[in-house]
Amino acid sequence: MKSILILLISLLLFRCNKKQSEEVIKEEQKELIEPTKPEETELYEPVPPSVSPKGQNGVPSDAMVLFDGSNLDEWEMAYGNDEVTWILNDDDKSMTVHRTDGVKNATIQTKKVFGSVQLHMEWKSPEEIKGDGQHRGNSGVFLQGTYEVQILDNNDNDTYVNGQVGAIYKQSVPLAKASVPTGEWNTYDIIYHAPEFNELGEKTKSATITVLHNGVLIQDHFEIKGSTEYIGWPNNSAHGKAPIKLQDHGDAVSYRNIWVRELD
Ligand code: MG
Repeated sequence: MKSILILLISLLLFRCNKKQSEEVIKEEQKELIEPTKPEETELYEPVPPSVSPKGQNGVPSDAMVLFDGSNLDEWEMAYGNDEVTWILNDDDKSMTVHRTDGVKNATIQTKKVFGSVQLHMEWKSPEEIKGDGQHRGNSGVFLQGTYEVQILDNNDNDTYVNGQVGAIYKQSVPLAKASVPTGEWNTYDIIYHAPEFNELGEKTKSATITVLHNGVLIQDHFEIKGSTEYIGWPNNSAHGKAPIKLQDHGDAVSYRNIWVRELD
């Protein structure tokens, strides 16, 4: 009886597998036959959702607003539990990096965590030019709190090219320097895909990043090697979704109009 049952199950499995492989062959054959009518290569689903590109305040209708100038509610200090020390500027709906006494590092981060995103932000170097090299208008945006796109006032201010404005810090030299004059607003539009890790904590897929600086392509689907370290090689500790950070490097860089669209 038992052996008859095993035989029946085996036959059933064989038939299923055969059917599946026949379907695969059919699909492959279909691809080999050159279509002769336009309808054969037209798709009607899935239907993409409609998004108003200029929704409220010019932000895409499906985006999450992280900063619109009215408050700092979406942000917290990245180190320590103090209130956010950055200055809110009512006149141009921006916020400026600011440390109060006793705060060593006023880097801020989103309260929400993110994986793959489309991120829009605007930033401005201080009008008053102070310092040189890495000490002029330095800040940066860290995807998943780990991977920095450099922000720097590089106008008449050279530095190492893999640390200049638009660099993936110490990993990828930007394709161009597309800064506006110091004291004017820059835009960054970033397409970022998060890395993947297996259950052993090993990286199975690198993060990738594309950056437009004032509409100019400066990072073209770069495969991020790991964390963007000041000293040392990138490391690849496993992580999940994480906050977006804005760096305090001691310079009064300002930000405005920050929104994000989640891609995962
Ligand atoms: Mg920086």
